[in-house]
Amino acid sequence: MPQDLPIVKRPPEAARAPDDFDARLRAHGLTLRAKSVETLQINVGKLCNQACKHCHVDASPARTEIMTRETAELVVRALQKFRFETLDITGGAPELNPSFRYLVAQARALGTRVMVRHNLTVMFERGQEDLPDFFRAHEVEVVSSLPYFLEQQTDAQRGRGVFEKSIAAMRRLNSVGYGMPGSQLVLNLVYNPVGAFLPPPQGSIEADFKRELAARYSVSFNQLYTITNMPIKRFLDYLRRSGNEERYMRKLVEAFNPHAVEGLMCRSLVSVDWEGRLYDCDFNQMLELPVAHGLPQTIAEFDAGSLSARRIMTGAHCFGCTAGAGSSCGGAVVKD
Ligand code: SF4
Ligand code: SF4
Repeated sequence: MPQDLPIVKRPPEAARAPDDFDARLRAHGLTLRAKSVETLQINVGKLCNQACKHCHVDASPARTEIMTRETAELVVRALQKFRFETLDITGGAPELNPSFRYLVAQARALGTRVMVRHNLTVMFERGQEDLPDFFRAHEVEVVSSLPYFLEQQTDAQRGRGVFEKSIAAMRRLNSVGYGMPGSQLVLNLVYNPVGAFLPPPQGSIEADFKRELAARYSVSFNQLYTITNMPIKRFLDYLRRSGNEERYMRKLVEAFNPHAVEGLMCRSLVSVDWEGRLYDCDFNQMLELPVAHGLPQTIAEFDAGSLSARRIMTGAHCFGCTAGAGSSCGGAVVKD
């Protein structure tokens, strides 16, 4: 029997789906609750050197929302107290936050695994040239978006010149050991579709990326994560403008895979926004859908006990995480 589920409050900017996510879970005898808080994912701000078409954060060089040092110190205090396995740092381009290196250094000093969502091109911004050495010195795990192994598709999504810079950045990361055979330094790539369709099987597209990037540009990486474009912010705007919203949402709903629910990232992480507020994931954060009422709402009040078995707040966008092989910050949920 399904247990009680949270009441679905449709967030203001959420997509419209021809179905209800919680009803679909119930139909499969499932509920959505956290099982632990292994990962603290922090979004340190919306400032980015790029303004990609699919961005669910709506990040750009014009954004000014950025995590202060005071909030970063509260994050470090939570790391000290609760000893999360992983600190996952995202943005915007997280490196542009003046507290970025402080956060990495503090977390690593505690022995916490640190992952950074690094867009590659930020390495060419002023003052960021030494990022490969900084990452290596702190054994940071680097996760980088590269929509495709060809220039045209990548630049169409991320802006002119991004592909060329991304390849140059990968070369620099490879040169210090990232993504190289036999090295412990991890460089993973993220693929997301360039249009209103689901990603292909992760294993097959990873093989294509490895072969083509090695042959054409002599660059290498460890794993490729496929991520479904979420119907939020800029991608939702694109769907609406192109008249694709209903068709895309129907596609996500029809591809609902109950086997993906067990591994949904919201079941093992808590997301923190630039002001220190808590969410079930980065997508809920962008929809301003905080953790359930009655739970700690800020990083200052963080409490692993109550948050590790919490109800997850859901909406139509959640169909993006359960479509096909499922989608999370670590790629497909159900591996092929
Ligand atoms: S997708 Fe990433 S790199 Fe592109 S604008 Fe958004 S945060 Fe920046
Ligand atoms: S968007 Fe995905 S990760 Fe976030 S609450 Fe919904 S199912 Fe969980």
